[in-house]
Amino acid sequence: TDACLTAIEGARDLNAVVTPTPEKALEMADAADARIKAGDAAPMTGIPLGIKDLFCVEGVRTQAASKILDNFTPRYESTVTANLWASGAVMLGKLNMDEFAMGSSNEHSVYGPALSPWKAESSNRGLTAGGSSGGSASSVAADLCLAATGTDTGGSIRQPAAFTGIVGLKPTYGRCSRWGIVAFASSLDQAGPMTKTVRDAAIMLGAMAGHDPKDSTSADIVVPDFEAALTGDIRGKRIGIPKEYRVEGMPASIEKLWEDGAAMLRDAGAEVVDISLPHTKYALPAYYVIAPAEASSNLSRYDGVKYGHRAKLAQGDGITEMYEKTRAEGFGPEVQRRVMLGAYVLSAGYYDAYYKKAQRVRALIKRDFEEVFAAGIDAILTPATPSAAFEIGAIDEQADPIQMYLNDVFTVTVNLAGLPGISVPAGLSGKGLPLGLQLIGRPWEEGDLLNTAHALE
Ligand code: GLN
Repeated sequence: TDACLTAIEGARDLNAVVTPTPEKALEMADAADARIKAGDAAPMTGIPLGIKDLFCVEGVRTQAASKILDNFTPRYESTVTANLWASGAVMLGKLNMDEFAMGSSNEHSVYGPALSPWKAESSNRGLTAGGSSGGSASSVAADLCLAATGTDTGGSIRQPAAFTGIVGLKPTYGRCSRWGIVAFASSLDQAGPMTKTVRDAAIMLGAMAGHDPKDSTSADIVVPDFEAALTGDIRGKRIGIPKEYRVEGMPASIEKLWEDGAAMLRDAGAEVVDISLPHTKYALPAYYVIAPAEASSNLSRYDGVKYGHRAKLAQGDGITEMYEKTRAEGFGPEVQRRVMLGAYVLSAGYYDAYYKKAQRVRALIKRDFEEVFAAGIDAILTPATPSAAFEIGAIDEQADPIQMYLNDVFTVTVNLAGLPGISVPAGLSGKGLPLGLQLIGRPWEEGDLLNTAHALE
């Protein structure tokens, strides 16, 4: 804990830790010490963690990197963090992210972007740590913490993990409670571990997961010993390579990474087969209808009354002006774009054409996966991202916001289908930057997925 607190102080330029909690950390580390001495240690006892700013931590400023939650300090604890503290983990501080977890580069943060500790050759602009869990990825990669929590609605654990050379696991939807995590798109949001190794991810997921009566979508299903699943034996496993993920313009380094990954699994005794997930091409548009629709509903609670920021009002302003001014000042441009998109696709005249159609597409995408799993595929191997990390400012979102959305082309299908997916560092791009491979598993079989991912390390 001491070493991490010192490292956090020395790495302010990364802008990864937005609210350090050193006093809390030292207190929790002392308690962990006592617990270890008493012979009562649990798997996470004494492990210093960073927590994404989306998780409510009692008494600690939690803003989801938004101005609208200015100085909001919850009086309650998210179930996931409560589970981690019960296991003895130590809280180092809150980590940077895109506002309300909307984004792929951490550039939509009231705190400014988190940077990757990796450096691009011949560039003086910083490199993105990815998003939305950019602060989590950066702080794990830069050794500011041993691991961090992330959340993944469309790739926000896996993409930043891939960009910074760490492991990121999005569990099956319902594995971790969403209670106390600021909601983005409730049918897609899932918390998960961001760690240095697959083994760490297995241990941390075990501590985060579990049924929670406070979240009706949290599954009442046993949490197995994920670490025990890491046998190193993947002989006879059937790994599918989906042809639809071979997108146009894929860089040669990503093609090679994918082939090398398949070869590694084959060498370890798995059988690698070509598969088809025919509705993949509709995933991105379906996601960018469903996620904003749910966001527009979830974010309606930020009205200037209950939390955070309230605009200064002029003489004669009523409640409507209060809502309008507060929301115009409090939400950043990407969040406003999502709220407008979401309200539009849910409106009476367009509901059937957009929202309902996207839900139907979602069902087809889910069925594609069910069919390949029913045919005996154990896991699916794809690249995690279509490129390596880019420079801050490289994507002009004002001119073309869709460019940023294209980052999520390989990750959103997993959220739409509710499946577990993991990104594992697997090589370097032509420019020497980290690249990740993604493995997608059967629902509730994170142990098996982690074991296969372990074979890629
Ligand atoms: N980049 C995606 C989005 O902006 C995913 C975000 C996430 O997973 N939280 O919606």
